[in-house]
Amino acid sequence: MDVRKLVVGVSPTKKLYLEDPYLREAKAEVLVARKERKNVYIVLNRSIYHPKGGGQPTDLGFMRGEGFTVSLKKVMEVRGVLVHFGKLSGRLPERGEEVNCSLDWERRYLIMRLHTAGHILDHAIRESYGRVVDTLGANHGPPEAFTEYKAGPPDLEQIKFIAERANEVVRNGREVRFVYVTPEELPAKARGAPNLDRLPPAERYRLVVIEGINAIPCTGTHVMNTREVGFIELKGVEETERGFKLYYDVR
Ligand SMILES: [Zn+2]
Repeated sequence: MDVRKLVVGVSPTKKLYLEDPYLREAKAEVLVARKERKNVYIVLNRSIYHPKGGGQPTDLGFMRGEGFTVSLKKVMEVRGVLVHFGKLSGRLPERGEEVNCSLDWERRYLIMRLHTAGHILDHAIRESYGRVVDTLGANHGPPEAFTEYKAGPPDLEQIKFIAERANEVVRNGREVRFVYVTPEELPAKARGAPNLDRLPPAERYRLVVIEGINAIPCTGTHVMNTREVGFIELKGVEETERGFKLYYDVR
């Protein structure tokens, strides 16, 4: 299935998770539904599901309607439209129908904690290296969370320092919020953010702000307070071609 064809002429999906990452259920209207063997591709007018991308793995959950249930396997974003792909039980939903969406909250909440931990680690890395270190990639969720940084790998002393500084931020219980800024405001408002010169052009940017720590352009889902992260455990460092991967977990 060419998902790009599915979204032709479809308006961008209203992304409910951007405004309220704690939203676990919502009703939505089916705009497109296309069957493929036992699976279905569904486009909705609005969605609580974060797609795979921006360092986050896909959200999972169930979409239910009169006579059908879809067990989500993957959510993709194509030109601002979210395409939900999953196993279909029952009949094929029709355009204009209402579905009840529910989120695999346990998985999502873990992703939220891991993603906020990732932003905290960006800060601790900056403190350790004495400069903002650009990132090359990340996966803030199952099966394994890591961020790849563009720098030489840290030694044992540095790793200890990074873990201490990061958990200090967690313990201090700093507020996490988001703001929208224009491209002109961005350089002054984004603080300690990696990859600023690689940002794609946009009319406005969403900044995830950890009070007093950093402000990073990000469309991910985060916890409201760093205390919710729990405890950041550094699991290991792996040298890569252009830098190193820092593996971590939260407890
Ligand atoms: Zn982020």
